[in-house]
Amino acid sequence: MNRSKWLRECGVAFGLLVVLAAIAVPVYQRSRKLAKQSGCYHVLRSMTAALDMYAREWDGEYPLSDDWPDAIRPYMQIRWPPFTCPAVGGDDEPVSYAMAAEPGGTLVFWDVHPLTGEPAFRHDDGICVAHADRHVTWMTAEEFGAAIGGSADE
Ligand SMILES: [Zn+2]
Repeated sequence: MNRSKWLRECGVAFGLLVVLAAIAVPVYQRSRKLAKQSGCYHVLRSMTAALDMYAREWDGEYPLSDDWPDAIRPYMQIRWPPFTCPAVGGDDEPVSYAMAAEPGGTLVFWDVHPLTGEPAFRHDDGICVAHADRHVTWMTAEEFGAAIGGSADE
């Protein structure tokens, strides 16, 4: 095999690797995003189940909106970190969800920024929410604004 043929074949092989990487990397990134969103759904479902258990034990009363993490923590199936969206990450245990002042309204829990408490659209420019009927969905900013407008204030 002469040197130019060997170089040409190496170039073809390298080109194929680049094409495969160009295909595989976005697929991998997309699957990681979906895994984090699925994990967020799991946390939201656990939180609504814990909230229901709390309300059953306290004659239908919901915890105060400031105290909800401590109030429902004993009922959570997730031990650590119980109130942190998987897309937030970090070594500490920030509360990255908010609870509606009136959990019987349209929305119950949603993603927020751990420091500011503002709604966080961290899942593909959307937000994961738990509804009053206990189903969990992803919403665009517009859908969330309309839903929160019809719900209790946060
Ligand atoms: Zn989330």
